[in-house]
Amino acid sequence: MSRISPSPSLPLLSHHHFVPLFVRCRWRTSAPAEELDADEKRSVPMTNWWQRALGQRLNSAGVGSFASVVAREPHLALPHIAVPDIRWIDWTEMERLGFRGVVFDKDNTLTAPYSLSLWPPLSHSLHLCRSAFPGKIAIFSNSAGLRQFDQDGSEARALEESIGGIHVIRHEIKKPSGTAEDIEKYFGCSASLLVMVGDRHFTDVVYGNKHGFLTILTEPLSLSEEPFIVKQVRKLENILVKRWYQQGLRPPKHGLLSEANQCIKVPSL
Ligand SMILES: [Mg+2]
Repeated sequence: MSRISPSPSLPLLSHHHFVPLFVRCRWRTSAPAEELDADEKRSVPMTNWWQRALGQRLNSAGVGSFASVVAREPHLALPHIAVPDIRWIDWTEMERLGFRGVVFDKDNTLTAPYSLSLWPPLSHSLHLCRSAFPGKIAIFSNSAGLRQFDQDGSEARALEESIGGIHVIRHEIKKPSGTAEDIEKYFGCSASLLVMVGDRHFTDVVYGNKHGFLTILTEPLSLSEEPFIVKQVRKLENILVKRWYQQGLRPPKHGLLSEANQCIKVPSL
Protein backbone atom coordinates (compact mmCIF):
# COMPACT_ATOMS: atom_id res chain seq x y z
CA MET A 1 0.00 0.00 0.00
CA SER A 2 1.18 3.51 -0.63
CA ARG A 3 1.85 5.64 2.39
CA ILE A 4 0.91 9.26 1.89
CA SER A 5 1.61 11.95 4.41
CA PRO A 6 0.59 15.57 4.02
CA SER A 7 3.08 18.41 4.22
CA PRO A 8 2.42 21.89 5.58
CA SER A 9 1.73 23.12 2.04
CA LEU A 10 -1.46 21.09 1.69
CA PRO A 11 -3.80 23.95 2.64
CA LEU A 12 -2.79 25.59 -0.64
CA LEU A 13 -5.25 23.28 -2.29
CA SER A 14 -8.26 24.68 -0.53
CA HIS A 15 -7.34 28.34 -0.17
CA HIS A 16 -6.49 29.25 -3.75
CA HIS A 17 -3.24 30.94 -2.81
CA PHE A 18 -1.28 29.45 -5.62
CA VAL A 19 -0.31 30.89 -8.94
CA PRO A 20 -2.83 30.19 -11.74
CA LEU A 21 -1.76 27.38 -14.04
CA PHE A 22 0.31 25.75 -11.37
CA VAL A 23 -0.47 23.80 -8.27
CA ARG A 24 2.27 22.08 -6.34
CA CYS A 25 0.91 19.58 -3.83
CA ARG A 26 3.83 18.60 -1.63
CA TRP A 27 2.63 15.20 -0.46
CA ARG A 28 5.11 12.47 -0.01
CA THR A 29 4.24 9.15 -1.60
CA SER A 30 6.35 6.17 -0.86
CA ALA A 31 5.87 2.47 -0.83
CA PRO A 32 7.66 -0.47 0.66
CA ALA A 33 9.77 -2.71 -1.50
CA GLU A 34 7.26 -5.50 -1.15
CA GLU A 35 4.84 -3.51 -3.35
CA LEU A 36 6.65 -4.97 -6.33
CA ASP A 37 6.31 -8.60 -5.51
CA ALA A 38 8.07 -11.50 -7.13
CA ASP A 39 5.13 -12.26 -9.42
CA GLU A 40 5.13 -8.74 -10.74
CA LYS A 41 8.86 -8.84 -11.38
CA ARG A 42 8.41 -12.09 -13.25
CA SER A 43 5.71 -10.46 -15.37
CA VAL A 44 8.43 -8.52 -17.21
CA PRO A 45 10.51 -10.79 -19.45
CA MET A 46 13.90 -11.20 -17.85
CA THR A 47 15.64 -10.58 -21.17
CA ASN A 48 14.24 -7.07 -21.00
CA TRP A 49 14.87 -6.44 -17.31
CA TRP A 50 18.51 -5.43 -17.47
CA GLN A 51 18.16 -3.79 -20.88
CA ARG A 52 15.44 -1.51 -19.64
CA ALA A 53 17.21 -0.74 -16.41
CA LEU A 54 20.28 0.23 -18.41
CA GLY A 55 18.13 2.16 -20.85
CA GLN A 56 16.69 4.21 -18.02
CA ARG A 57 20.22 5.07 -17.01
CA LEU A 58 21.47 5.89 -20.49
CA ASN A 59 19.02 7.95 -22.49
CA SER A 60 21.55 9.79 -24.63
CA ALA A 61 18.89 11.76 -26.48
CA GLY A 62 17.44 12.65 -23.11
CA VAL A 63 20.79 14.01 -21.94
CA GLY A 64 20.96 16.26 -25.00
CA SER A 65 17.42 17.44 -24.44
CA PHE A 66 18.14 18.01 -20.76
CA ALA A 67 21.05 20.32 -21.62
CA SER A 68 19.00 22.15 -24.22
CA VAL A 69 16.07 22.71 -21.87
CA VAL A 70 18.31 23.90 -19.06
CA ALA A 71 20.16 26.32 -21.32
CA ARG A 72 17.38 27.64 -23.50
CA GLU A 73 13.83 26.57 -22.57
CA PRO A 74 13.56 25.79 -18.87
CA HIS A 75 9.85 26.66 -18.81
CA LEU A 76 9.22 23.46 -20.81
CA ALA A 77 10.10 21.40 -17.72
CA LEU A 78 7.35 23.06 -15.66
CA PRO A 79 3.99 21.25 -15.59
CA HIS A 80 0.66 23.04 -15.77
CA ILE A 81 -0.52 20.99 -12.80
CA ALA A 82 1.34 18.92 -10.20
CA VAL A 83 -0.42 16.43 -7.95
CA PRO A 84 0.58 13.56 -5.67
CA ASP A 85 -1.00 11.00 -8.00
CA ILE A 86 -3.85 10.68 -10.48
CA ARG A 87 -6.50 10.39 -7.77
CA TRP A 88 -6.22 14.17 -7.44
CA ILE A 89 -7.31 14.83 -11.01
CA ASP A 90 -10.93 15.69 -11.76
CA TRP A 91 -11.37 13.81 -15.02
CA THR A 92 -14.97 14.93 -15.53
CA GLU A 93 -13.88 18.55 -15.35
CA MET A 94 -11.06 17.85 -17.78
CA GLU A 95 -13.56 16.54 -20.29
CA ARG A 96 -15.88 19.48 -19.69
CA LEU A 97 -13.07 21.91 -20.46
CA GLY A 98 -12.74 20.39 -23.91
CA PHE A 99 -9.95 17.87 -23.61
CA ARG A 100 -10.42 14.86 -25.87
CA GLY A 101 -8.16 12.24 -24.34
CA VAL A 102 -5.48 11.36 -21.82
CA VAL A 103 -1.97 10.00 -22.37
CA PHE A 104 -0.23 8.40 -19.42
CA ASP A 105 3.38 7.57 -18.79
CA LYS A 106 3.63 4.04 -17.38
CA ASP A 107 6.49 3.55 -14.90
CA ASN A 108 5.89 5.27 -11.59
CA THR A 109 2.76 6.97 -12.94
CA LEU A 110 0.35 4.04 -13.35
CA THR A 111 2.53 1.10 -12.30
CA ALA A 112 5.62 0.46 -10.23
CA PRO A 113 8.77 0.44 -12.39
CA TYR A 114 8.97 -2.72 -14.53
CA SER A 115 5.56 -3.93 -13.36
CA LEU A 116 2.67 -4.64 -15.71
CA SER A 117 0.09 -4.25 -12.96
CA LEU A 118 -1.79 -1.07 -12.19
CA TRP A 119 -0.86 0.39 -8.80
CA PRO A 120 -3.94 -0.80 -6.88
CA PRO A 121 -4.90 2.49 -5.15
CA LEU A 122 -5.25 4.14 -8.58
CA SER A 123 -7.89 1.79 -9.94
CA HIS A 124 -10.92 3.93 -9.05
CA SER A 125 -9.41 7.07 -10.54
CA LEU A 126 -8.56 5.22 -13.73
CA HIS A 127 -12.14 3.98 -13.84
CA LEU A 128 -13.36 7.59 -13.59
CA CYS A 129 -10.91 8.56 -16.32
CA ARG A 130 -12.25 5.81 -18.59
CA SER A 131 -15.80 7.01 -17.95
CA ALA A 132 -14.91 10.60 -18.84
CA PHE A 133 -12.83 9.61 -21.88
CA PRO A 134 -14.21 6.29 -23.16
CA GLY A 135 -11.80 4.73 -25.65
CA LYS A 136 -9.56 7.79 -25.44
CA ILE A 137 -6.88 6.76 -22.97
CA ALA A 138 -3.40 5.60 -23.92
CA ILE A 139 -0.01 4.87 -22.48
CA PHE A 140 3.09 6.40 -24.07
CA SER A 141 6.04 4.88 -22.28
CA ASN A 142 9.79 4.69 -22.54
CA SER A 143 9.46 0.97 -21.76
CA ALA A 144 6.30 -0.86 -22.92
CA GLY A 145 5.57 -0.09 -26.56
CA LEU A 146 9.01 1.42 -27.21
CA ARG A 147 10.50 -0.71 -29.98
CA GLN A 148 13.99 -0.54 -28.50
CA PHE A 149 12.83 -2.63 -25.53
CA ASP A 150 9.57 -4.14 -26.74
CA GLN A 151 10.33 -5.14 -30.30
CA ASP A 152 7.41 -7.46 -30.89
CA GLY A 153 4.98 -5.44 -28.79
CA SER A 154 4.41 -8.35 -26.41
CA GLU A 155 4.86 -6.22 -23.35
CA ALA A 156 2.47 -3.61 -24.73
CA ARG A 157 -0.15 -6.31 -25.30
CA ALA A 158 0.37 -7.75 -21.83
CA LEU A 159 -0.06 -4.29 -20.35
CA GLU A 160 -3.25 -3.71 -22.35
CA GLU A 161 -4.62 -6.99 -21.02
CA SER A 162 -3.55 -6.24 -17.48
CA ILE A 163 -4.98 -2.71 -17.44
CA GLY A 164 -8.19 -3.02 -19.40
CA GLY A 165 -9.50 -0.20 -21.56
CA ILE A 166 -6.19 1.42 -22.26
CA HIS A 167 -4.15 1.37 -25.46
CA VAL A 168 -0.34 1.27 -25.47
CA ILE A 169 1.05 3.38 -28.28
CA ARG A 170 3.90 1.72 -30.14
CA HIS A 171 6.67 4.14 -30.98
CA GLU A 172 10.32 4.37 -31.99
CA ILE A 173 11.79 7.29 -30.09
CA LYS A 174 12.08 7.88 -26.37
CA LYS A 175 10.49 10.85 -24.70
CA PRO A 176 11.28 13.72 -24.66
CA SER A 177 12.61 13.31 -28.20
CA GLY A 178 10.44 12.55 -31.19
CA THR A 179 7.20 14.04 -32.47
CA ALA A 180 3.62 13.68 -31.27
CA GLU A 181 2.59 12.16 -34.59
CA ASP A 182 1.88 8.63 -33.29
CA ILE A 183 -0.25 10.00 -30.47
CA GLU A 184 -2.18 12.47 -32.64
CA LYS A 185 -2.81 9.73 -35.17
CA TYR A 186 -4.23 7.42 -32.51
CA PHE A 187 -6.50 10.08 -30.98
CA GLY A 188 -7.38 11.78 -34.26
CA CYS A 189 -6.82 15.26 -32.86
CA SER A 190 -4.14 17.79 -32.06
CA ALA A 191 -1.95 17.22 -29.02
CA SER A 192 -3.28 20.54 -27.70
CA LEU A 193 -6.57 18.74 -26.97
CA LEU A 194 -4.86 16.01 -24.98
CA VAL A 195 -3.54 15.66 -21.45
CA MET A 196 -0.08 14.19 -20.76
CA VAL A 197 0.39 12.69 -17.30
CA GLY A 198 3.79 11.55 -16.04
CA ASP A 199 6.22 11.57 -13.14
CA ARG A 200 9.33 13.11 -14.74
CA HIS A 201 10.00 16.79 -15.47
CA PHE A 202 12.56 16.19 -18.18
CA THR A 203 10.84 13.39 -20.04
CA ASP A 204 7.05 13.50 -19.67
CA VAL A 205 6.62 17.21 -18.97
CA VAL A 206 9.18 18.46 -21.47
CA TYR A 207 7.78 16.16 -24.16
CA GLY A 208 4.21 17.23 -23.37
CA ASN A 209 4.90 20.96 -23.27
CA LYS A 210 7.00 20.81 -26.42
CA HIS A 211 4.05 19.47 -28.36
CA GLY A 212 1.25 21.48 -26.78
CA PHE A 213 -0.32 18.98 -24.37
CA LEU A 214 -1.70 20.00 -21.02
CA THR A 215 0.94 18.55 -18.71
CA ILE A 216 0.31 16.99 -15.30
CA LEU A 217 3.18 15.90 -13.09
CA THR A 218 2.64 13.19 -10.47
CA GLU A 219 4.87 12.11 -7.63
CA PRO A 220 6.64 8.78 -8.30
CA LEU A 221 4.68 5.79 -6.97
CA SER A 222 7.68 3.82 -5.77
CA LEU A 223 11.37 4.64 -5.66
CA SER A 224 12.43 1.23 -4.40
CA GLU A 225 12.92 -0.28 -7.86
CA GLU A 226 14.20 2.83 -9.57
CA PRO A 227 17.85 2.83 -10.71
CA PHE A 228 20.21 4.84 -8.52
CA ILE A 229 21.16 7.25 -11.29
CA VAL A 230 17.50 8.02 -12.01
CA LYS A 231 17.00 8.89 -8.35
CA GLN A 232 19.95 11.29 -8.56
CA VAL A 233 18.60 12.86 -11.75
CA ARG A 234 15.24 13.33 -10.04
CA LYS A 235 16.97 15.25 -7.26
CA LEU A 236 18.76 17.44 -9.78
CA GLU A 237 15.52 18.05 -11.67
CA ASN A 238 13.76 19.09 -8.49
CA ILE A 239 16.53 21.50 -7.53
CA LEU A 240 16.51 23.12 -10.97
CA VAL A 241 12.73 23.33 -11.13
CA LYS A 242 12.49 24.88 -7.67
CA ARG A 243 15.02 27.50 -8.68
CA TRP A 244 13.13 28.30 -11.89
CA TYR A 245 9.92 28.82 -10.00
CA GLN A 246 11.74 31.11 -7.57
CA GLN A 247 12.97 33.06 -10.58
CA GLY A 248 9.38 33.51 -11.71
CA LEU A 249 9.30 31.07 -14.60
CA ARG A 250 5.96 29.46 -15.40
CA PRO A 251 4.87 26.73 -17.81
CA PRO A 252 3.71 27.57 -21.33
CA LYS A 253 0.15 28.88 -21.41
CA HIS A 254 -2.54 26.40 -22.39
CA GLY A 255 -5.66 27.58 -24.20
CA LEU A 256 -8.10 25.22 -22.46
CA LEU A 257 -7.03 25.84 -18.89
CA SER A 258 -7.35 29.17 -17.12
CA GLU A 259 -6.91 27.93 -13.56
CA ALA A 260 -5.22 24.70 -12.58
CA ASN A 261 -7.26 24.24 -9.44
CA GLN A 262 -10.46 23.74 -11.38
CA CYS A 263 -9.16 20.30 -12.41
CA ILE A 264 -7.95 19.28 -8.96
CA LYS A 265 -9.98 17.49 -6.36
CA VAL A 266 -9.10 16.16 -2.95
CA PRO A 267 -9.58 12.41 -3.21
CA SER A 268 -11.13 10.17 -0.62
CA LEU A 269 -8.05 8.14 0.28
MG1 LIG B 1 7.78 7.38 -15.40
